[in-house]
Amino acid sequence: MSHDAKIDEQHIAQAIELARRGAGDARPNPVVGALVARGADVIGEGWHAQFGGPHAEVNAIAACGEADLAGATLYVTLEPCCHEGKTPPCTDAILAAGIRRVVVASDDPSDKAAGRGLGILRDEGVEVAFRDEPGLIHGFLSFDHVSTEAKRAGDQIFSETGEALRRDS
Ligand SMILES: [Zn+2]
Repeated sequence: MSHDAKIDEQHIAQAIELARRGAGDARPNPVVGALVARGADVIGEGWHAQFGGPHAEVNAIAACGEADLAGATLYVTLEPCCHEGKTPPCTDAILAAGIRRVVVASDDPSDKAAGRGLGILRDEGVEVAFRDEPGLIHGFLSFDHVSTEAKRAGDQIFSETGEALRRDS
């Protein structure tokens, strides 16, 4: 199945905009934005609004209400979590909703994730795609959350308040 790259680009850009809404209050969690779409149509949007509160993916799925999400695509700025933290794993919510494709702007370099969330989704037959936005792929991770690799790569990095951090030496 081929997907429209332009549509993916637009939806990820929108998810990044949604992420900004959590700036400040999600701390020390990274700010994250997500939306559920079918083709060009956005069904629901969400973001991580508050530390300890539901994650962006769960909020986006909830915002879809009663809509049938079977075969829908989730766009999210960060790899969905797969661990039981302050909230249940987002991978469970994604699978339960029937979403069959997940497009992420960044994997999660933290120890708790490191690709495991994406691995679980793939194991369950969900198509996982990266929509790397140069300079934005690591956006909105808290600085500690960003892999040293990314820091070294000099990608534009945003603090948890949404401000772009200058590439440090
Ligand atoms: Zn999560």
